[in-house]
Amino acid sequence: MSSQAPSSAKRPVAGAGGVNPRTPILDPQSTSVNPHSSLAGLSNSTLTRLAKLGIASKFDLVLHLPLRYDDETRLYPISGAPAGQAALVEGKVVECDIKYRPRRQLVCHIADGSGVLTLRFFNFYTSQLKQLAAGTRLRVFGEIRHGFFGAEMVHPRYRVVHGDLPVSRSLTPIYPTTAGLNQDALRRLIERALAECDLGDTLPDAVLAPLKLPRFREAVLYLHNPPPNAAQKDLAEGRHPAWRRVKFDELLAQQLSMRLHYQRRRAVGAPALKLRGTLTRALFERLPFRLTRAQRRALAQIQHDLARPYPMQRLLQGDVGSGKTVVAALAALQCMENGYQVAVMAPTEILAEQHYHKFAAWLADPAADLTWLAGGLRKKEKEQALAAVAAGKAMIAVGTHALFQEEVRFHNLALAIVDEQHRFGVHQRLALRMKGTQPTPGAQPHQLMMSATPIPRTLAMSYYADLDVSVIDEMPPGRNPVSTRLVSEARRDEVIRRIRDACIAGSQAYWVCPLIEESEALQLKTALATYEGLQRTFPELKVGLVHGRLKPEEKSRVMQAFQEGAIQLLVATTVIEVGVDVTNATLMVIEHAERMGLSQLHQLRGRVGRGAGRSTCILLYQNPLTAAARERLKIIFENHDGFEVARHDLRLRGPGELLGARQSGVPLLRFADLSSDVDLLEAARKAADTLVRENAPAVRAHLARWLGERHDYLKV
Ligand code: ADP
Ligand code: MG
Repeated sequence: MSSQAPSSAKRPVAGAGGVNPRTPILDPQSTSVNPHSSLAGLSNSTLTRLAKLGIASKFDLVLHLPLRYDDETRLYPISGAPAGQAALVEGKVVECDIKYRPRRQLVCHIADGSGVLTLRFFNFYTSQLKQLAAGTRLRVFGEIRHGFFGAEMVHPRYRVVHGDLPVSRSLTPIYPTTAGLNQDALRRLIERALAECDLGDTLPDAVLAPLKLPRFREAVLYLHNPPPNAAQKDLAEGRHPAWRRVKFDELLAQQLSMRLHYQRRRAVGAPALKLRGTLTRALFERLPFRLTRAQRRALAQIQHDLARPYPMQRLLQGDVGSGKTVVAALAALQCMENGYQVAVMAPTEILAEQHYHKFAAWLADPAADLTWLAGGLRKKEKEQALAAVAAGKAMIAVGTHALFQEEVRFHNLALAIVDEQHRFGVHQRLALRMKGTQPTPGAQPHQLMMSATPIPRTLAMSYYADLDVSVIDEMPPGRNPVSTRLVSEARRDEVIRRIRDACIAGSQAYWVCPLIEESEALQLKTALATYEGLQRTFPELKVGLVHGRLKPEEKSRVMQAFQEGAIQLLVATTVIEVGVDVTNATLMVIEHAERMGLSQLHQLRGRVGRGAGRSTCILLYQNPLTAAARERLKIIFENHDGFEVARHDLRLRGPGELLGARQSGVPLLRFADLSSDVDLLEAARKAADTLVRENAPAVRAHLARWLGERHDYLKV
């Protein structure tokens, strides 16, 4: 990192979104460690190869840790080399030849008095024949196999020995590498980086000692060059204290940056939206139900945050159907009570429209207060909507990503509600936030993000540590659990019968078409074919079709018809994954369920079981199943709690997928593993607390080392 204040052009977020100049940035002047010194002096081709490995600075080389180690610290006699593992032996070349049977190969015999060993090379240069002339002394490393022709080694690593060559004193690191960059070259670069970089500790002993963690220098030197007696198993499994130190540092850097961001946000102003009760009380009186305890708790947290003079950033998470919308509506009314505007944004038109209808039902004067803003509007309607929003006449604007486009100007936006927040990109959410609260320059709107994809505890503690989280962990009363059935495609007839029975009995059903990731066009084709097929199968039923390519009006017409019962069987692509709420639908069939991810299946399943009747979700699968597909289906069959499903999802896929768009702003963890390193995560959290309170220099040094210039655009 440079010691000058970085130019804003270097910060992608600042460049892209027109960020408020008060966006938190660490003071780059105050760092004493300068780990990100350049790789000057290397050729362009080497730099390109290093870049492929994610290495852009000397310090990146320090953190380029070995995949495994070879033990070349002991020389074995040929006859006494251990079986089943690579070993180092030495011998004199007895004979070396190119053979053509069974295929062209270089065959070299060496002997050391204890025995004879055959070396085979299938890729070789003819010059090697000369290099391996009889009488040459060779040291070779590889695994000895005992075959028909006696002991042999295929493609060993070897070197010619002149005079006395000591064995290596540490294990030989094997690094992840890329074509054109061999282990030796990479090893030399890393050795040099280790010698030239400042490996001094960023953390005080008070943090390290209770955790029994070694100093940073000690840890990285050990990992790059472990002594012969090192516990290879602990190293391989990342349990060795040296590994734990590196993981801890990484987790701590993440905690610190999240925490600093959280603090900086408090320095930004936001309108304090006091709970006045004028509008909220009226909604409570109109609601046909009582809030659950979990809803009340979440609402209280939100109400409290909104009344503060700095922007709330709260994630409201709750399983599908847990009733997040009404909580959001009450927050919106609290904002309106103070004369400020609200934006409600959803990732799909269907979902946005559902919000629109719900809000309309809950507002005293929807015609005056509510505006719809989505892509499909006619020019005239759109102009009217924009004018109403800009004049502050429309108090609540509901829509899709159309809401944060340049042309949309709010009169005084003070609350942005974002549903299914993980589906939006970082920039989109930022743009909405930057719409500002006009009368108070520099202030930002409060943000309420909603998600039905539960975030497992470890993820919440790490990647989401900068947000406040409210959880609705209770379903509204009267819900019946959905029973899940796994049915093989071979028994499709039974499924058809069930749909007929359910619809004749007055229920409705969904048929979810297979997900075809490779091609949207193919997916559409499949959906159309399924629709036609099911129309033929069920001449007595009204069958509808909804998919992502329908025009918004058509889509809402179909959804409306399904809602009203005019359509009994709704064929759908995965567009219905979020937000559709038809209580009379009690049956869902998901075709080719084996292709879908866990959270997707869980979300889909949440579309039924919304009313009083018993609901069923049938997962149709096609044999043969892969092991991974079998495991997913087993998990979804056995687990109904969204948190459990998410926990398994995290275990199977790692955090990248679950994080969705968020990951574009947050570097993923490279070393620590959120399922196995929970103890380190907890420790890092505690340490971050203490350091932020007591040791600002350590915080800066640690962030500079681990995040370098990246840390200033981490957060949205
Ligand atoms: P989600 O959390 O998936 O967004 P919704 O907000 O769409 O869930 O709520 C699902 C359904 O439950 C809606 O029809 C909503 O009106 C209803 N609902 C919400 N809260 C309650 C409650 N406390 N009691 C009964 N029904 C409720
Ligand atoms: Mg919802």
